[in-house]
Amino acid sequence: MTAILKVAGVSKAFGGVQANRNVSLEVEAGRIVGLIGPNGSGKTTLFSSIVGYHPIDEGSIRFEGQEISRLRVVDIARLGLIRTFQQTRIYGGMTCVENMLISSSQRDARLLDLFQARSPEREERAGDLLDFVGLYPKRKLEAGSLSFGQQKLLEFAMALMNQPKMLMLDEPTAGINPTLINGLIDRLKRANEQFGITLFVIEHNMRVIMNLAEHIYCLAHGELLADGRPEEVQNDPRVLDAYLGA
Ligand code: ADP
Repeated sequence: MTAILKVAGVSKAFGGVQANRNVSLEVEAGRIVGLIGPNGSGKTTLFSSIVGYHPIDEGSIRFEGQEISRLRVVDIARLGLIRTFQQTRIYGGMTCVENMLISSSQRDARLLDLFQARSPEREERAGDLLDFVGLYPKRKLEAGSLSFGQQKLLEFAMALMNQPKMLMLDEPTAGINPTLINGLIDRLKRANEQFGITLFVIEHNMRVIMNLAEHIYCLAHGELLADGRPEEVQNDPRVLDAYLGA
């Protein structure tokens, strides 16, 4: 087994709140791995630490063998590790294609403008990926006119524009209607199978994560509580207790 991501002994506190304590986990390359746990158990904090959003207090985070815990978000994104769905970051006044074209790991710094971003290759890839998420017919519409769920699909396609090796998705199905949820699960699985992208997914919807992930980690009170195949984790008494006690 080859771990693309190795988290070892990571701790992070905010003031007096120990959000993560000595968390160690591995994500195998090419897999879909889930992260669950009651509200406040430290899932989002762990994701933020991994992608360089804030410094960790202790521990090590390795992506493809390289220590990344001191790198900036943009540098981690350039290595191919990208987080999405934390919030929808699309420009409502631009068309879907234009949003795709300006999508880049550097877009936080707004280094690319639309003019620079246009190239036949990028435009073709934008069209192909909009087709992949089922938004090709809407490519020339303003992104602001899409439904919330469609905007999530657009954001997913925008993340794929950067050809990531690994995507970290923070509650991808939150706020999406059940029909689109099934479409999104299908697209996530296909991105994993067809493009070989490793997925690490925080998800509250148990039906979704049990259907999607091959391996699941469960956090409680900032610490790793259990991990295993979905059916093992689902029936683990410690996991049931953590949810019932939450
Ligand atoms: P989850 O994603 O599992 O709901 P979080 O990682 O968001 O959990 O939160 C874990 C704990 O850390 C919570 O007690 C939360 O209040 C606290 N926390 C998270 N982010 C911050 C922050 N920026 N400042 C202070 N406390 C925070």
